Amino acid sequence: MSLPVVIRRKPTRTVTVRDLKIGSAHPISVQSMAATRTQDVEATVRQVKLLHAAGADIVRIAIDSRDDVEALILVRAAVPQARLVVDLQESYRLAEKVAPYVDKIRYNPGHLHHHEKDLPVSAKVKFLVDVAKRFNLALRVGVNFGSLDPKQKETGNKDSGENGRFAPALASANEHVGYLEELGFTNYVVSLKSSNPNDVVDINKQFSQMHPEVPLHLGVTEAGLLPLGGIKTRVAFEHLLALGIGDTLRASLTVPFDEKGEEVLLSKAIIADVYAGRFRSVPRFEHSGLNIISCPSCSRVENEKFVELAQAVRTMATPFAAQHDITIAVMGCRVNGPGETDDADLGLWCAPTHVNLKRKETVLGKFSYDEILGRVQSELELMIAARETE
Ligand code: SF4
Repeated sequence: MSLPVVIRRKPTRTVTVRDLKIGSAHPISVQSMAATRTQDVEATVRQVKLLHAAGADIVRIAIDSRDDVEALILVRAAVPQARLVVDLQESYRLAEKVAPYVDKIRYNPGHLHHHEKDLPVSAKVKFLVDVAKRFNLALRVGVNFGSLDPKQKETGNKDSGENGRFAPALASANEHVGYLEELGFTNYVVSLKSSNPNDVVDINKQFSQMHPEVPLHLGVTEAGLLPLGGIKTRVAFEHLLALGIGDTLRASLTVPFDEKGEEVLLSKAIIADVYAGRFRSVPRFEHSGLNIISCPSCSRVENEKFVELAQAVRTMATPFAAQHDITIAVMGCRVNGPGETDDADLGLWCAPTHVNLKRKETVLGKFSYDEILGRVQSELELMIAARETE
């Protein structure tokens, strides 16, 4: 469908990432993330080069230890042309160590409570801001529905309608915007990600109304395998970009390492289509039937069989479960896997030698990579049979 559109970007502030400007009327930039183990320097360098060559304006790398920092230093030296952002997990103090080698730092408010529990979150944010100011870096406050601060999770009542459902994520973003503004730091963007594209649309619209000056990084997290992962991403991005919301974005697809450039190409294609008035999605993502969500993997992925596993789950389930409204979540690690599978009917998350499985909140156990597919199939069959007798 091609429509004559005039898109008026929200007049946000400009955020600077090395020589790249994000926000205001600056071109919408595209990001991606290395899925390799950061400490596998050779693979990570190859991955960063691949993403940079595909057109990524910024490439993200996950950092969780001093050994990761050592590896990052080598990656930076090997690919100085790529703008790097690090994804800090629980170890926020590593910000100081990585700062000389990166252009931007992403922190997840939901992970700041893990270490130094007696220190207020505001003091941890101050530490990050001091580092960012000292090294002239940008920050991203990256709020994720699957890994919210437990304190903020209490804020919203999941059952009290749309606003209640979004309340914890919005409260978390608001809290951190408040800290940053109080510290006089404005070189930051915010992201609010969910695996549900409709939620991504709604919450970003709400945030944009509340904080029109803050540039937004868009993303549908764990969009999963192609082609559905691309459709989910397109639904959210088309809707928001057409409203002038979104200043930088990332598609999160489950694809093999060597095909990670697909994330960049898809993002660029969606931006080009929206600005040319070519819309391919419906206004809402009214998908029904089998829904498989899977993370894009990152350096934390615990077994490289993860992508094959996500593909195998789809191949196994589609013939008999395609017509059933069932969500299966397949995640690459034990850190974010348990939380990110909370809303699924069946949740799988990988460990080095086994895969964890749960049905709704009930943990069913650990299964070897050889066993897991059969167990998921029997759980699916039971679920479908139970629904048919309801
Ligand atoms: Fe990385 Fe784990 Fe998130 Fe997958 S679930 S993207 S492996 S942190």
